[in-house]
Parts: sequence; structure tokens; C-alpha cells
Amino acid sequence: MNDIFDTIVCGGSLAGSAAAVTLARQGASVLVLDKAEFPRSKLCGGLLTWKTIQILNALFGETPETLRREGIIRYVSDRYAIRSFTATLAEGSLSYPFHFTDRAELDNRLLYHVRRAGARVREGEEVSGCDPDSGEVILKDGRALRARYIIGADGAHSTVRAAFPEVNLNAMRRLTAATIEVKILAGDFPEPVDRPILYVGFMEAGYGWVFPNGDHVLIGICGLRRRDTHFAKLFRTYLDVLGVDPAVLSYQRGHPLPYGSFLHDPVHGNALLAGDAGGYVEPLFGEGIFYALSTGMYAGRAVARSLATGIDPGPEYLRDLHHTILPELRGSNTLRWFLFRVMKLFGPGSIRRFVKLGAGPLGDMVHGKRSYHWLKKKDWRFPQPGE
Ligand SMILES: Cc1cc2nc3c(=O)[nH]c(=O)nc-3n(C[C@H](O)[C@H](O)[C@H](O)COP(=O)(O)OP(=O)(O)OC[C@H]3O[C@@H](n4cnc5c(N)ncnc54)[C@H](O)[C@@H]3O)c2cc1C
Repeated sequence: MNDIFDTIVCGGSLAGSAAAVTLARQGASVLVLDKAEFPRSKLCGGLLTWKTIQILNALFGETPETLRREGIIRYVSDRYAIRSFTATLAEGSLSYPFHFTDRAELDNRLLYHVRRAGARVREGEEVSGCDPDSGEVILKDGRALRARYIIGADGAHSTVRAAFPEVNLNAMRRLTAATIEVKILAGDFPEPVDRPILYVGFMEAGYGWVFPNGDHVLIGICGLRRRDTHFAKLFRTYLDVLGVDPAVLSYQRGHPLPYGSFLHDPVHGNALLAGDAGGYVEPLFGEGIFYALSTGMYAGRAVARSLATGIDPGPEYLRDLHHTILPELRGSNTLRWFLFRVMKLFGPGSIRRFVKLGAGPLGDMVHGKRSYHWLKKKDWRFPQPGE
């Protein structure tokens, strides 16, 4: 293949699909490369907030109804509970429900939209390196491809990011959480799970979750590594407290989760980073689906404008990130250190008082109707469907 593409998108998951669909709809020639064959399994709680539903509609025309019909949304609940290992600390309902999805199926569906928009998608193609200045992308088998722009949407272990000399990979690693998640039959969980349940207070900087997912339940923990944390051992204790028999687990896997490692300048030469590759995950609850879609969309939009006008896409991408995304991530980061510190000093029960102060606005903050920045009303300025 000797073509020079307008853009090569490395990674065909959420950030990659959002970028590719945005570009292809503007008439750009786009090649998406992913090392996996879809549908591929993806470790994720699959929880969608209000803002995620809005952006899925704006970018892909998908709604809760269409996603349910496709079997992608597996459960819907407007309730929640926060627990310690010994007590329920808060529970209630929200102004909008959480939607729980099958991530493998969601990603596959979005890639279908990418193909329909006119982008080329090549699965089973691993990128082993790139040159952000020349736009050259090297595949694992040694072949070289070229594009005017590269979008790195290749996840937490990003190969594209490794070609950015200014990124401090050690600093990013320190703010990357370890996670473990398992999926079991709902009948194997000791109680019916009809809402997401968060477990706090058993880790210095992290938490556990139990999410309903149709006829299954997802159980996971995530947290920053401390020298004395043995993660697998901690997970066994967690299962024990939940009353889950380890014999019902068919697998137990981990995956890194950016947890406060977001980059302020994810642009180098003709390459832009989006999603987990840039560390764009909300650092309190670990919400990454929305941030992958939105940063992918912004990166795609900036490159599309650049292809049309010849103006460098970096400044526009940075402007969108700094106006819309980074204030949320910074606000959430401040809140998480405050909450983790308060719990360390006064015990997990202190969360009770915090949630009581404003359960409604806090729920709206998680959903994105309000900002992590002082709970102000948030206007995301989502594009209209088809825009
Ligand atoms: C255990 C766990 C639970 C989570 N739960 C939630 C949740 O409930 N809600 C939520 O909002 N977020 C959640 N997240 C976060 C969310 O899953 C991520 O933020 C999101 O998947 C990021 O999307 P992405 O497109 O940036 O990267 P990814 O989804 O990681 O996709 C990267 C893609 O790039 C491909 N790739 C990687 N390297 C290469 C390469 N060298 N060449 C070619 N292709 C490559 C991969 O195959 C993959 O398809 C969770 C994360 C974890 C780990």
C-alpha cells in the first residue's frame, strides 16, 4: 500500500472511532489500524453517563433505544450505593440513569459506523512505531505507511505516545492505576445487584465496584500502586468480603487505567494523542469512555479543519481540550485527593456527610450536567447529530 492518507488513526476503539468518523465525514482519507480483530474483549465496567449518551448520539446517531436493540446496553439503573466493607455509606437515585454496556459490542458497533462513513479499517495490524514529524507509521512486520497526520488512539500503553520525546513516561506511570475486573453470572453473586455499588475506604487512592450487566455482574478494583499494595491479594480479600466464591471466576485480568496522568500538551509534530493514550480519564471514578470519545472527536475536528485550511491542528485541539476537558479532569483530581485524604483521616464514614451535603448536584456532576469545577452548570456544546 503506497497511498499517503490524510490521517492514520492508530487504535480503532472509542477515541479512534470518534476521530475517524469525524474526519471521514468531512471527506478526509482515513486509515484506522488496530492490532485486534473485532469484536475483541475489553476490560471495562461499561458504565455510560448522561454526557456519554449525548456524544454517542451526536457522533454516531446511537441512542439508548438503538443500543438496547443491538444488545449493547445490558442494564439501566438510576440508583446507586456507596459502601465500606462494613456499612452502607450512601444510597439513592439520580436525575438520569446509568446505562451498562457490553464494551466489546459497543466498540464493534462504533467501528461499523466508521466504515460506513468511508474510512478504511484494518484489523490485526499492530503499529510498532511512528515518526510524528514525517507522518510515517511502522507496522510490526516492518511495512511503512504514511499520512499527513497521525492520531494516537492506541490506549494506555500507547506506541504513538512513545515517539513524543517531551512526555515523561515515568510520571505518567506513577499516575496510572492498576485494575482487576471479573465478570460472573448474576446468580453467582450473593445478592441481587440492581444498581452500581462502589466500595471505598480499603485503598489509599482507589475503590472497588460491583456493576449490574444483564445476566452478569462485573466486579473490579482500581487504585494507584503503593509500595506495600499486593493487588491480587487485595482483590481476593475484596471477593471474600463480597462473599463471592473464587471458584465461579472463569478469568481474572488486569489493565492499566490512567488515573490523574492526563497530558496538557498531547501534540507533537503532525501527531495528536486522544483517549487513554493522552491519559484522558476522569481521576476520581475512572470514567474514560466519554473522555475517549470527546478527545477523539476534538482531535478529528482539528485535523479536518487543518486539511481544509492548511492551518496547524495543534492549537485548535489544545484550545478545545483546555476549554472543555481539562477543567473537568483538574476539578475531579482535586476532589479525589480531598476525599481520599478525608477518608484516611476520619474513616470511610466521612463520605456519608459529604454525599448528604448535595447528592443531587453531585450526581449531576458525575453525569456531566454540572462541572467538577465548583458544580457549575456545564455546557459541553455537543455537535448536533450529523453536524
Ligand atoms: C477495569 C476497567 C474498568 C473501566 N470501567 C469504565 C466504566 O465503567 N466507564 C467508563 O467510562 N470508563 C471505564 N474505564 C475506562 C475506559 O475503558 C477507557 O478509558 C477507554 O476504553 C479508553 O478508550 P480508548 O479508545 O482511548 O482506548 P482503548 O479502549 O484502550 O483502545 C485502544 C485500542 O488500541 C489498540 N491498540 C493498542 N496498541 C496498539 C498498537 N500498537 N497498534 C494497533 N492498535 C493498538 C487496542 O487493540 C485497542 O482496540 C475502565 C477501564 C478499566 C481498565
